[in-house]
Amino acid sequence: MNGERRAGEAAVRAREVREEAALRQQIVDTVCEMEHLGINQGTSGNVSARWCEGLLITPSGVPSADLTRERIVWMPLDVRDDNPLFEAQRPSSEWRFHRDILSARLDVNAVVHTHSSAATALAIHGRGIPAHHYMVAAAGGNSIRCAPYAIFGSQALSDRALEALRHRFACLLAHHGVIALGPDLSRALWLANEVEVLAKQYLLACQLGEPPLLTDAQMSEVIEKFKGYGPRK
Ligand SMILES: [Zn+2]
Repeated sequence: MNGERRAGEAAVRAREVREEAALRQQIVDTVCEMEHLGINQGTSGNVSARWCEGLLITPSGVPSADLTRERIVWMPLDVRDDNPLFEAQRPSSEWRFHRDILSARLDVNAVVHTHSSAATALAIHGRGIPAHHYMVAAAGGNSIRCAPYAIFGSQALSDRALEALRHRFACLLAHHGVIALGPDLSRALWLANEVEVLAKQYLLACQLGEPPLLTDAQMSEVIEKFKGYGPRK
């Protein structure tokens, strides 16, 4: 009986190891795809996914070409600044907002952060993305907010990002970039790219003056329709 139980536990453990390896690989693939889409600038982008009471996150300062699944860092969700784990493996300097988002938002399992150009251009002006196009609703509401500036890697940045992400799956960060969330990595990546597309469209439309916007009622209608169909991916 003990032997059977041990074999069962070993099988469960083997499955967990396989699943963790697959998720680590998905994070590496997501970073490569960000590169391919042109939304990653150097080593600025970072990615995380929920795993085992914690998160798997891209390491600090590793170019995407050198990224392997072994270099992805795991940290517990209750990690503190002085955790000794940090001495051996350095997670992305933005681990605080990844940790805080995954702690606070149980509807989210993946976080993608970029400095994609058009969205960042708006964020430099401290401007979010208004309802110029119905696809803004893909981020969960009638706008994509811009969080006020705080220095990268700080708890203040994480707190401000979390506030800007209230009832949303994406936000901009003033003088910095974009955060996109999803129930999985593919959805978070899709939304990060969609935010960049929406920012480009808005900036282009602004060339003819401040564009007309969809009304709250029109956006509510889109949000309802997305609930039925889900926005296209
Ligand atoms: Zn950043």
